Amino acid sequence: MLFSEVIGQEAVKQRLISTVSDNRISHAQLFLGPEGSGNLAMAIAYAQFISCTTRLETDSCGSCPSCLKYQKLAHPDLHFIYPINSTKEVPKPRSAKFIEKWRGIVTKNAYLSLGQWYMEIGIENKQGLINAEDCNDIIKRLSLKSFESEYKVMIIWRPERMFHAAAPKLLKILEEPPAKTLFLLVGENQEQILKTIVSRTQIVKLKRIEEEDLSAALTRNNGILETEARHLAIQSAGNYTEALRLSESNETRDFNSEQFQVWMRHCFKSDWIQATEWIDHVAKLGRERQKNFLQYCIGMIRQSMLLNYRIRELVNVEGNDLSFVKNFAPFVHAGNCVQFAELLNTAHLNIERNANPKILFLDLSMKIAELLKQKSHTHERQE
Ligand SMILES: [Zn+2]
Repeated sequence: MLFSEVIGQEAVKQRLISTVSDNRISHAQLFLGPEGSGNLAMAIAYAQFISCTTRLETDSCGSCPSCLKYQKLAHPDLHFIYPINSTKEVPKPRSAKFIEKWRGIVTKNAYLSLGQWYMEIGIENKQGLINAEDCNDIIKRLSLKSFESEYKVMIIWRPERMFHAAAPKLLKILEEPPAKTLFLLVGENQEQILKTIVSRTQIVKLKRIEEEDLSAALTRNNGILETEARHLAIQSAGNYTEALRLSESNETRDFNSEQFQVWMRHCFKSDWIQATEWIDHVAKLGRERQKNFLQYCIGMIRQSMLLNYRIRELVNVEGNDLSFVKNFAPFVHAGNCVQFAELLNTAHLNIERNANPKILFLDLSMKIAELLKQKSHTHERQE
């Protein structure tokens, strides 16, 4: 991670750079900033800068052997501790056992949230903890001589999640640190970090990212158009993680809306050539995306039904969706709406149970085509 890859936060970068040029690098620092401010990215960029062998005035070189290892987060003198919990594969959790996952997700996005990390390691229903064994491990790892760099660096992500029994070990080592060792703690809520730990660190405070910096980054890193990027920067209040979350959900909504219309048209016309092509496309999406799409379809069937029966105040559909639903609604009626919803619900369940998506969507398309042919007997729509 180069300083230039950290979004905005220029004043903090300058201050950190000057600690290196003035040779006053403090051995324990707490990078404190709200979610999406880039506190982890900044800590990594700082460590890389310190370790870079041909550093430039204001950034790492990006190409020396140290930087190349840092880019993969695989430098032998760079260590990480983060909240974890037991999983089926890892019944006795240690940070080291999750290091490949950590490197994978952080190299892609150093602005990840705790929730995204829990999801990555499959503990989203539990709380992650920094455990005592990991703190023992810190002591062991740091007692070794550094391999390649002048400094050994230990980055502790989210000390808020430190198990109480683990704290004394960390405190001791913060008090009597081995020579040429840096502790970079990366947290979001100072009140949730043990006071005794905070008091032994120098705080590096990050604010929310400036709107302009954030919107430029969304365009540069994520290919988001300028007007949309500006909108997301405002909506997320300077939180890059949240801006990405929002952009993804907007994208998903547009995708679902478009695909639902295409799919229903193929079914309505019983156009199996086009439908098969469409199914091939949908089958390539991940299961989570397919489930999300089916959930959207269930919602649209319900909205069509409401619109059809003129319960307009309940209808929560806008724009493009509304004009489609107006045309589509007459085909959803008392004679088929229950079956419609059941079909989609079952499909949703079967996707979760690892059904083959191609077979599932083909079968579903044919059944929906049949349902769309059924005329309403109980309710005639009047214009
Ligand atoms: Zn370098």
